[in-house]
Amino acid sequence: MEIIFEKVGVSACSSYEYSTVKRSLQEALTPWKGLNSFLHSGQKVLVKPNLLAPESPEKAVTTHPSIVKAIIETAVESGAEVFVGDSPMRGTLEEVCKVSGILQVVQETGAHLLPFRTVEEVYYNNANTCSNFPLAKEALEMDFIINAAKFKTHTFTGITAAVKNCFGFIVGADKKRFHLLYPLRKNFSDMLLDLYLLTKPGLSVIDAVIAMEGPGPRSGRPRPMKSLIVSPSAVAADAVVAELAGFASSEISTLESASRHKIPGHRLNQIEIKGPLHSLYMQDFDKGAGGKGWSFLWRYLPAWFRNYNERNRPWPVITAKCSVCGFCQESCPAEVIKEDSETGGYFIQQEKCIRCYCCMEACPRGAIELQ
Ligand code: SF4
Ligand code: SF4
Repeated sequence: MEIIFEKVGVSACSSYEYSTVKRSLQEALTPWKGLNSFLHSGQKVLVKPNLLAPESPEKAVTTHPSIVKAIIETAVESGAEVFVGDSPMRGTLEEVCKVSGILQVVQETGAHLLPFRTVEEVYYNNANTCSNFPLAKEALEMDFIINAAKFKTHTFTGITAAVKNCFGFIVGADKKRFHLLYPLRKNFSDMLLDLYLLTKPGLSVIDAVIAMEGPGPRSGRPRPMKSLIVSPSAVAADAVVAELAGFASSEISTLESASRHKIPGHRLNQIEIKGPLHSLYMQDFDKGAGGKGWSFLWRYLPAWFRNYNERNRPWPVITAKCSVCGFCQESCPAEVIKEDSETGGYFIQQEKCIRCYCCMEACPRGAIELQ
C-alpha cells in the first residue's frame, strides 16, 4: 500500500469577490481546522505573494489582492502581526503593491509592507546543489511564512507556483547571478528546491482562481481555473495544481527535481487531497513552451540526449512590438541584449544567450517571443 506523505486542501473559488475568496480559503484549510493550527498569537507572519512586476490584477501576473487580503485577515484573526514582503524582479515593492492592488489591502488590514533589502548569507547543510544563499534578512526574522503563490506557465521551468515563488527570497540583483550560476533548467530547479527546503514556508497557498496560460509568467493569457490550493508542502501543492492544468510532472522541472531527490509529495499517490479535485480539472489549458519535450522518460534517457534537449531550448527574439524601454537589457544576467546603433532598438546576441528568459519576464509589452 502506498504511504501518504503530504496533505493538500483544494477548494472551488468562482471569483475574486472577497467573501467568496475568504470562504474558499477557509474550506481549503479545513483539513487542518483552519490557520489556527499553524499560528500562535503574537507571531510575526510574513505573507510572500508573487510580485513579479507592476501589473494590474486583471493581467494575472501577480497574486490577486483578494487572496492576499483573505490570508492577512485569517492570520490576524489568529492573533498574528502580518507583514507582506517580496523582492520584485521589476520596480520597488511599494510600486508593485500599488499597481497590483495589494498596497490598498495592506493599508485596509493594518498589515505592514516589508521590502526585502538586506542580504544575509545562509549556509544550507543538506543541499543537493546549492549550499550558500543570499537571503532576505527581513524574511528570516519572521516567525512563520505563508507562501502566497500565483499559478502561471513559465517558459523556463514549466510552471511557476509555490516552489518557484521562493526565488523571491533572494534579494534583487543576486537573482541574476543565480541564473548565471545555474543556466540549465535541471540545475536551476535543483537550486530552487534547495532554496525552498531551506526557507521552508510553513504554508503555501496557490492562487489559481484566474491562472495564466500560454507564454507566462508575464505575457501569457489570464485563464479562469477557479481553484485555491493549500498545503504545508509547496511540492505537493505544485503537484496538485499542475495535475489540474493537465501537466505531467516530468514537464515541471521543480517536480522532476523533487522526484530525483525523493522529496515527498511530487506524485499524486503520495498526497492526500481534500476537496473537489475532479470538478476542477481544466480542458485544453495552454501549457506554453516551458514543459514541451520533457517526457517522463527523460531521466532514463542517455546524458547526451538530455543535454541535447537542454541545449535545444528555444531562443528569445525581440519583435516589432518593442517600445525600446530597455527593461529587458537591465534584467539580462548574461548582458547579451545590445543596442542597435542603426535602428535605435535592441537585439539579442544569440550565441551568448543562456536562455533563462528573464528578458521575457521583464518585458511589459510581450515583445520578446520564442523561435
Ligand atoms: S523590455 Fe520589451 S519593450 Fe522594453 S526594450 Fe525590451 S523588448 Fe523592447
Ligand atoms: S537574452 Fe534573455 S534569455 Fe538570453 S540570457 Fe539575456 S535574459 Fe536570458
